[in-house]
Amino acid sequence: MQKLKDKIITEGRVLSDTVLKVDSFLNHQVDPEFSVELGHELARRFAGDGVTKVFTVEASGIAVALTTGLALKVPVVFAKKKRGATQGKNSYSSNIYSFTRQESVDIHVNKKLIAAEDRVLIVDDFLAHGEALRGMAEIIAQAGATLVGVGIIIEKVFQGGGAALRAKGVRVESLAPVISLAGGKVEFAE
Ligand code: 5GP
Repeated sequence: MQKLKDKIITEGRVLSDTVLKVDSFLNHQVDPEFSVELGHELARRFAGDGVTKVFTVEASGIAVALTTGLALKVPVVFAKKKRGATQGKNSYSSNIYSFTRQESVDIHVNKKLIAAEDRVLIVDDFLAHGEALRGMAEIIAQAGATLVGVGIIIEKVFQGGGAALRAKGVRVESLAPVISLAGGKVEFAE
């Protein structure tokens, strides 16, 4: 998506050879109109796949998951990083490790929110090592639901998470595949 690539070049900041900061429009401050465009593009790519639910993890995936769900006209579920006091054993859980934060965290979803007959599209802002997606896919499997695919705004291809998922047969669509951040320069795949 060319407009996204242009925005990453003009507004993004390369913090290191592995970390890209895009908090002016994607995951700290959110550009609502642009988020709607991103959601429409992800929805277009999965239109006709019978998606019944969009699934993400709090917090930075929620904005684009919401606009994707809006375009597909399906509910949006986000995994919580703290189990609600009222949830008890009524939740599916998984543990994910964040390489950016260097900590592992449990994520939880109330069992009522994903059913075996659901066809789930995972949406997230970034795909790096694929840990967050692995955890979300595990929760979908616990529910016995079907993982339709994964829609990502920025995939850091060089960190291998996308390749590992594709090797398992998961359909991964990313709107801006970044192949390198070396030397402070963002390079995209075609
Ligand atoms: P993964 O689990 O694929 O390694 O990382 C996914 C999560 O880590 C994303 O949802 C995002 O919150 C965070 N993340 C990974 N790499 C970056 C990055 O380069 N920039 C920002 N802002 N967040 C990142």
